[in-house]
Amino acid sequence: FAKQNGRGQFSFYFDELQTDSKRVLLLDNELRKAIENDSFELHYQPKVSVTTGAIVGVEALVRWQNEKLGFVSPGEFIPYAEETGLIIPISECIINRACQDYLKLKSKNIKNMPIALNISSIHFHQSNFIESIMQILERNNCPAHYFEIELTERTVMNSEKETIRKLVLLKQLGFKLSIDDFGTGYSSLSYLVQFPLNYLKIDRSFIQHICSLDDKQAVVDAIIQMAHRLHMKVIAEGVEQREQVQLLRKMGCDMIQGYYYSKPLPLDEFIEFLEFWELEQLEGK
Ligand code: C2E
Ligand code: MG
Ligand code: MG
Ligand code: MG
Repeated sequence: FAKQNGRGQFSFYFDELQTDSKRVLLLDNELRKAIENDSFELHYQPKVSVTTGAIVGVEALVRWQNEKLGFVSPGEFIPYAEETGLIIPISECIINRACQDYLKLKSKNIKNMPIALNISSIHFHQSNFIESIMQILERNNCPAHYFEIELTERTVMNSEKETIRKLVLLKQLGFKLSIDDFGTGYSSLSYLVQFPLNYLKIDRSFIQHICSLDDKQAVVDAIIQMAHRLHMKVIAEGVEQREQVQLLRKMGCDMIQGYYYSKPLPLDEFIEFLEFWELEQLEGK
């Protein structure tokens, strides 16, 4: 607690700093152990086709439950891992886990469920990124065409030759490519024309108020038109309400992801969700 003298403010701040740095130290230690023990799990969020209502793919989102720190959100540990370089082994653990989950889906006869992986720009820009991802896929006997790679605008905006080379190669290997959080980055649109992209994912911040704010609606409408002219499909992120679904359908959006349909689920629950979804569809709901 802060002392009452003139230095009180300072010592209070100092205590806080100490707790902060203790947590960072713990985070660092526990992350290293988690890499060693392969403790990262993936949850899966369905992507629903606006036209058919079918689940046409799934996004893998990392989840980390730690005995000392509790649940740590990717919003907290991914930035730290990026700063320290730990993101590379973490990313490799995640890709490996996605391969194992793919095999599990296959064993349950679920075969048309492409898995989207979020790839950090730090990993993507490593000179051996493509070798590292292919090695993991090959080791697990997984086909590249079953996976999508989600990259943010920030990752690809530099339009460097090396970036284009990598994207073209990934595409040739069979991966689908998405731009994540579209509209929030440094929207230089030139890269959209240069790169072989399959999907644009419109960020939740645009979707959130499309029903009440005309200008958000105008932006989303324009993004959808533009993407279609460039032969890309559009995914709306963070859809929570039926009205948003209806409006997005009217605007010609291709796919929808969000709590309205489902939160990201552990693999087993996702498989159950799929069975339930198919039944609902058969019953014509
Ligand atoms: P993102 O890739 O844009 O993922 C979407 C985030 O929005 C996820 O949060 C998801 O759970 C959440 N979300 C989905 N639908 C809704 C909705 O209807 N409403 C609201 N409020 N939220 C929704 P999450 O899982 O906490 O992930 C946050 C970010 O962390 C991701 O954003 C991504 O940038 C990063 N991340 C997550 N998993 C990974 C991973 O495996 N690797 C890497 N490199 N980054 C990851
Ligand atoms: Mg994503
Ligand atoms: Mg996103
Ligand atoms: Mg995001």
